[in-house]
Amino acid sequence: MPMSLESLEDRSAIFFDRDGTLIVDKVYQKDPAQTEYQVGYFELITFLQRAQKFLLFVVTNQSGIGRGFFKESNVMAIHDRMNQDLVAKGLRPFQGIKLCPHRNEDQCQCRKPMPGMILELLHEWKIDPTKSYMVGDKLSDVEAGRAAGLAQNILISETSQINLTSVPNLLKLVEYFQAL
Ligand SMILES: [Mg+2]
Ligand SMILES: [Zn+2]
Repeated sequence: MPMSLESLEDRSAIFFDRDGTLIVDKVYQKDPAQTEYQVGYFELITFLQRAQKFLLFVVTNQSGIGRGFFKESNVMAIHDRMNQDLVAKGLRPFQGIKLCPHRNEDQCQCRKPMPGMILELLHEWKIDPTKSYMVGDKLSDVEAGRAAGLAQNILISETSQINLTSVPNLLKLVEYFQAL
């Protein structure tokens, strides 16, 4: 990222869910080769990186680790692949990708809808939550963003829902951020 953004006093960020939001949810995916991006993904990241208003992060629940379906190294390999695919298109990697390896019954502070991953990133990067956004395909994503005090928490959903800000897909999300 350019220095102008990195050095901003009141940094803004967008926190993205991974599965079902940025990439197609393959359910306990462990093979990087299975990575398939949602329609509009590269258009979205291109737009946001050119706009230079937001740091971009991914926060993802990966309970398959805690359940023993795969290892953290499998998940990291998928994240490496995602960043490599951005670089291959002349884009920059995400500022950061955080994962929660726990199961629901572990009662951790990081598994969404808990806000732990977002709160850590807000702290580590000195980000202003009131100028930041969460984007996800589940209510638990929205709830995590709300619990972290973010300005807006956007649900990716074909059907609009009462009391929720929603867009049907990532191309419409580009329009949402264009209109800000
Ligand atoms: Mg999801
Ligand atoms: Zn956790």
